[in-house]
Amino acid sequence: MQSQGPTPVLDPHALAEQMSGRLLIGGELVPARSGRTFDVANPATGVVIGRAALGEAADVDAAVAAAVAGQAAWREMGARERGRLVVECGRRLNEHVEELGRLVALETGKALRTESRVEASILADVFTFFGGLAPELKGETVPFNPKMLTLTQREPLGVVGAIIPWNVPMMLMALKIAPALVAGNAVVVKSAEEAPFAVLRACEIMSQVLPKGVLNILSGFGPECGGPLVAHPRVKKITFTGSVETGRIVYRTAAEKLIPVTLELGGKSPMIVMDDADLDRAVEGAMVGMRFTRQGQSCTAASRMLVHDRVHDAFVAKLKARVDALRMGDPLDEATDIGAIVSRQQYDKVLSYIEVGRGTPGAQALECSSMPEDPRLAGGLFVRPVLFTGLGNDSRLAREEIFGPVTCIIRFRDYEEAIAMANDTEYGLAATIWTRDLRTAMDATQRLEAGFVQVNQNLVVQPNLSYGGVKTSGLGKEASLESMLEHFTHKKTIIVNMT
Ligand code: ADP
Repeated sequence: MQSQGPTPVLDPHALAEQMSGRLLIGGELVPARSGRTFDVANPATGVVIGRAALGEAADVDAAVAAAVAGQAAWREMGARERGRLVVECGRRLNEHVEELGRLVALETGKALRTESRVEASILADVFTFFGGLAPELKGETVPFNPKMLTLTQREPLGVVGAIIPWNVPMMLMALKIAPALVAGNAVVVKSAEEAPFAVLRACEIMSQVLPKGVLNILSGFGPECGGPLVAHPRVKKITFTGSVETGRIVYRTAAEKLIPVTLELGGKSPMIVMDDADLDRAVEGAMVGMRFTRQGQSCTAASRMLVHDRVHDAFVAKLKARVDALRMGDPLDEATDIGAIVSRQQYDKVLSYIEVGRGTPGAQALECSSMPEDPRLAGGLFVRPVLFTGLGNDSRLAREEIFGPVTCIIRFRDYEEAIAMANDTEYGLAATIWTRDLRTAMDATQRLEAGFVQVNQNLVVQPNLSYGGVKTSGLGKEASLESMLEHFTHKKTIIVNMT
């Protein structure tokens, strides 16, 4: 099938301008009702790249009304037809990988080669996966009474509000909207104020495929735009990724309305390195796990590395050498491995944690890589990655989520101590263990308190694997068939008396 979508715009500055001042409501790119906008800056230079439309309550009302209208016909469409259109969304997005990668690099500061293009290139997989699951929206027949045909049926919830963060905005949006749409819901997305343009462009591309009103997107600030979306009486489900603090606010409002929520919140994920681990492999796992090339801006970041005393120093030396070799620079430069921190607020937060770490008795801060030399980047929000050693598991840096390129490497003496430290946290998103001993590995998989546990590897989120945390890391799962069925449908029970 030939694409009828917009022509790719490879200059991200031109595209940011093009996306400025627009919301997507009812299939149309429209300004905010107030006509107001807010500046979006390139974190690598501090220069304003565009002005996003400032969505507020009136825009939420309009988007929800469009979604209600769009959902009526969408839910009546055959599930496989919806699935086919969702797969087609993925195919269209795939034609725009380069422009979406560049745009998300420009607005978030994530390096194009190591992060942003990768994010853009995996979207199609998510849409293809969920589109293909449409026939799985099945019910059951229940052996209740031979004279009463009893069955269950999966039905959509209605209008879903999807609130997304800025760190992997397109990917996290895809994981929410693809299953929600296939299940027959309409969606109103609220983008993060730091990264509104790439997700808007992605929705514009998808709106060429989807019926009007089925997918809407708003940009704006949390309390003024996200708040009214959660509170809107016609929004029947909220799926949220962000901080624990905001997650609690969202949950409270949803509780008043008695609607279901999925919350993907923070993490302080442990990575246990036993003394029999393949250290080179563990170091590679630490590189991926800590997302150094994403400036550590991941809720899954392996930000507590618990390393056996016997291999601690060797691990630290190897990891430092690897991180040192990463090049910090302009996110759009193909030679760059590490870009800039997304916003001034996050930058200040990360620096303040580094100060706290430095001031902690016994701590040693190993700064890695080097600052970019390009004078155009002098105003950029660059932070050198820091490996902290000598901190206890009870230190603030080991307990609080930093969301930056800062990790704690903590010594332990035996396995029991490592498990106790790993679980001694309010979070429970992900955990890994690195060992050659099968018994230790299996024991750890049973005892680690986390939603996603891996042995000798650190794979990132996959569309077909349930993903979500325990403890304060969240509620409910994303990705997988399970998330589509449990979080975007309800099961109706029907009994037909045949006598
Ligand atoms: P972060 O610290 O990563 O920015 P937040 O939880 O503040 O995390 O933001 C994640 C998303 O939640 C963003 O889209 C943000 O605008 C939105 N948000 C922030 N505050 C609220 C709120 N009170 N109600 C609804 N959404 C909000």
